[in-house]
Amino acid sequence: MSADPRKSLFEAQKLGKRLRHQVGRAIGDFRMIEAGDKVMVCLSGGKDSYTLLDVLQQLQAKAPVAFELHAVHLDQKQPGYDPDVLPRYLETRGVPFTVLEQDTYSVVKRVVPENKTMCGLCSRLRRGALYRHAEEQGFTKIALGHHRDDVVETLFLNLFFHAKVSAMPPKLRSDDGKHVVIRPLSYCAESDIEQYAQWRQFPIMPCNLCGSQETLQRKTIKAMLEEWERTHPGRVDNIFRALADIRPSQLADRNLFDFDALSGLAPDARAWLAGVAEAVPEPAKETS
Ligand code: SF4
Repeated sequence: MSADPRKSLFEAQKLGKRLRHQVGRAIGDFRMIEAGDKVMVCLSGGKDSYTLLDVLQQLQAKAPVAFELHAVHLDQKQPGYDPDVLPRYLETRGVPFTVLEQDTYSVVKRVVPENKTMCGLCSRLRRGALYRHAEEQGFTKIALGHHRDDVVETLFLNLFFHAKVSAMPPKLRSDDGKHVVIRPLSYCAESDIEQYAQWRQFPIMPCNLCGSQETLQRKTIKAMLEEWERTHPGRVDNIFRALADIRPSQLADRNLFDFDALSGLAPDARAWLAGVAEAVPEPAKETS
């Protein structure tokens, strides 16, 4: 932001407007929030979830339909955690909130070996506690603070390390079928959120009080995307936009596109060809 306070205020307001516009568009595109919804906003205390709550509250004030927002935070009993920070902030925001308590820190420390990252298990335990609360309280939607860069990072993690084309959808039904999870920040760039959080002076609480670090895989992907964005600005956005414009006929997934239908062969001839393909052993790979 500019050193000139007036210019800086103007830039910050423009940034706020952009974020509201992007969140509003994502909500509309994916019908994330509807009249009468009771939305549980998961608040970790990081810049993303503070921004999510802040923008949703602003949109709620002007929305043509009525819906409820409730902030929910899980105190995971990490060392050095200050239990007063979030309640103090939330009281000034006039939003109903609940702070749950569960010592996931001790569980994760006990189970995960010393030199391994703990985030996988920790997030699963956190998700379990939050989803349980959502069910008990009858929340109709669970809002998470993942943004565009999280989505693109996940795409490459899945591509490079799991050989899958899949990312983080803006809206999904949880595995047990009980919850609808929404990601209203899906169209927002992390750099915008970072600046917005600084401008709004959110009382950020670092996640890694537990001492855990990101995995090497995630760090590698982040560094790759940062380098791409530095040398080719707009590339991350292009990748994100590509996720909303998939062409199954230009890929190679036979479950998504009926390539057989292009052959013009009668079904019994196709079955015969499939049998031949199975009967012929694959050639050995060249080693040199
Ligand atoms: S940094 Fe610590 S608290 Fe945060 S997700 Fe990872 S293990 Fe959990």
